[in-house]
Amino acid sequence: MPELPEVEVVRAGLAPAVTGARVEGVEVLDARSISRHDGDAAAFEAALTWRTLGMPARRGKFLWVPIEGPGEAADALLAHLGMSGQVLVREPGAAPDRHTRIRLLIDQPSLHAAGRGTLEIRFADQRIFGGLAVRPLVADEGGAAVPDQAAHIALDPMDARFDASAVARRLRRRRQGVKAALLDQTLVSGIGNIYADEALWRSRLHYATPGERLTQARALALLADVRDVLEQALAEGGTSFDAQYVNVNGQAGYFEHRLHAYGRGGQPCHRCGALMVREPWANRSSTRCPRCQRRPRGIAV
Ligand SMILES: [Zn+2]
Repeated sequence: MPELPEVEVVRAGLAPAVTGARVEGVEVLDARSISRHDGDAAAFEAALTWRTLGMPARRGKFLWVPIEGPGEAADALLAHLGMSGQVLVREPGAAPDRHTRIRLLIDQPSLHAAGRGTLEIRFADQRIFGGLAVRPLVADEGGAAVPDQAAHIALDPMDARFDASAVARRLRRRRQGVKAALLDQTLVSGIGNIYADEALWRSRLHYATPGERLTQARALALLADVRDVLEQALAEGGTSFDAQYVNVNGQAGYFEHRLHAYGRGGQPCHRCGALMVREPWANRSSTRCPRCQRRPRGIAV
């Protein structure tokens, strides 16, 4: 499943192709991929055709492209990548991509000087948990414009407005385990299973440690580890543990070999050499070092 770094890689790759481009055609090949759009395929196509696209934005794992004019930007094209969604930029007439569900034909003026201009944006999704929707932009608590479906999502640790001290204080009011808190998108967004395990390993914390047992310094250190893990993954193009994830140019990420926890059950801890353990956790799994990340006293898991 794509996490924040993968979505940011897609956003950055999409930016030069779509920013300032005009939509000249939309084709919905599978209506299941617009199930989050209010309206049918014809309404989706009408909401985009002849509109101009703005700079792609992201919050947590939500990715959207503001739609400009006529009038002020009031809508956005929101992309949910779900489990297996991909956004691909292709030249017109490029070979088909498997599982393409929606195609956008756009005209990118910055390519005109080179005698080109038309690009095809393809939304491909094998398992159809993702999709595209045109949604209204609303103002969040800080006054920033976000699609209505993303308005409940907290800022992610890479956002310039992220207030680590305030989030640490809220984390310390939680009785639940820290991993569950990190995955709660209303507390902090953009953290999935992989990067939660990585940050907990760095912070030497067991996933079931109650938030209320952390000191402010420990909570701040954990959030700093989260940000470091995300930034490292981003610098390296995202984590490609899932063969279905490829970035906007069809190139797989390569952070996988740098993982310390996720996917390393039965292998030696990179810090102390103890064998890492993979345990069932909330219908998923958690991988931790039994020596560096001991079970908190009095907490059953
Ligand atoms: Zn260890």
